[in-house]
Amino acid sequence: MVHEKNLDQFETMSDLVRELGVQEWDIDVPCPAGRWFRDGKRKELLRDMSEKIRHAYGGGYHGGSSGLACGSHLMTVGPDGAAAKCGFYLDEPAGNVGDGVSKAWRRMKHVPLSDLDCDCDELDQCAGGCRFRAEVLEGSDLSPDIVQCYARGVK
Ligand code: SF4
Ligand code: SF4
Repeated sequence: MVHEKNLDQFETMSDLVRELGVQEWDIDVPCPAGRWFRDGKRKELLRDMSEKIRHAYGGGYHGGSSGLACGSHLMTVGPDGAAAKCGFYLDEPAGNVGDGVSKAWRRMKHVPLSDLDCDCDELDQCAGGCRFRAEVLEGSDLSPDIVQCYARGVK
């Protein structure tokens, strides 16, 4: 976990990851909420953290695909069998694998990139970032994900 107190060691860690020959490195930023984010200083920290995403390479299992935002190929199964796109949505699952994996899969909600309120040249590369974070921070799962906007220098 990278945090306020060790953010200055990030570049060293990035060098180490590459030296070790790691083939894919995914980096993400936590989804902030509530008073934590309303503090202006924290917004600056979020911006600093977001810029580190640029060090990621090699793919990204939460990336968009087939014209759909974030992880159209993903399904998370909770300990009780609840199935959702990812752990953030397990409190409103699409189904339960006890009724069949493919049935749960077919009920999964996907967000088409063409529906996003994103009007920028980065859309192909970014694929709208994280839909959960967009909803938490900007109020709609169609909003831009500001972590990706920060990382890509999009205003
Ligand atoms: S950089 Fe921001 S506005 Fe552009 S596609 Fe990504 S989330 Fe949307
Ligand atoms: S909402 Fe965020 S964490 Fe969940 S699958 Fe999409 S990108 Fe990944």
